[in-house]
Amino acid sequence: MRGFLDEVKVTPGGEHILACIQCGTCTGSCPMAGAMEYPPRKIIAMIRAGMRDEVLSSNSMWFCLSCYTCTARCPRGVKPTELAHALESLAAQQGFQIGGTSTPSLYRSFVGSIKSNGRVHELGMMIKYYLSIIPELMKHPVATIKVVPLGIKLFSHKRLPLKSTKIKGKEDLSKIIRKFKEVRGKHVKAAQPDTSGYVNRATKNKAELKAEADYEWAKGEGNKILKRPGIEEGNPGIFG
Ligand code: SF4
Ligand code: SF4
Repeated sequence: MRGFLDEVKVTPGGEHILACIQCGTCTGSCPMAGAMEYPPRKIIAMIRAGMRDEVLSSNSMWFCLSCYTCTARCPRGVKPTELAHALESLAAQQGFQIGGTSTPSLYRSFVGSIKSNGRVHELGMMIKYYLSIIPELMKHPVATIKVVPLGIKLFSHKRLPLKSTKIKGKEDLSKIIRKFKEVRGKHVKAAQPDTSGYVNRATKNKAELKAEADYEWAKGEGNKILKRPGIEEGNPGIFG
């Protein structure tokens, strides 16, 4: 049966997840760790524990700034930044509802602009983006109003042109996008999760989820690091 870990491993960006030794350097370096539901080290432990619902419905990967600090500092070459993007793809493909972030809407507006013009039309993209998150904007009216002076400033510096311009060879770009979709379609099909025997554990509380993640880690990499036989072989692992 293909578990969540296998699914992540075959998704571009998730290939190196098994090399993680849970040292926590990524979390200690991440400027967004405090805002994420689960910081990078913990997300990796949860993936290994098969916690698909908890991982893919979290805000963690969507809050990644792609600053690459974790990737530069990881001693095992895990590339947590790319892993975050892999999780974004999986969450979007599998229709998970993402709370607390408008990043998916921003991505969609950006890609829509590229598809129409071959390049980003900043004004069109931002209008589309803000229209798609009106309910969110209503919740934060002061923050929304604060953006207006920045928009005016950008407009006065000709950074927000009214008219969009299309690139030369846009048809070639469309062909590239079509090919990408074709290749991705095959990949998504190959990576389809086998959910037989899949148990939705979203009802468990955070303490139970943490205990499970720690247990799975101890069973696997934890015992390898400590050169102990696995928990399943009668050894209590790092809890002993
Ligand atoms: S991803 Fe790298 S930095 Fe983060 S816990 Fe794993 S080994 Fe350490
Ligand atoms: S790339 Fe993302 S996960 Fe890594 S340190 Fe930066 S914000 Fe954190």
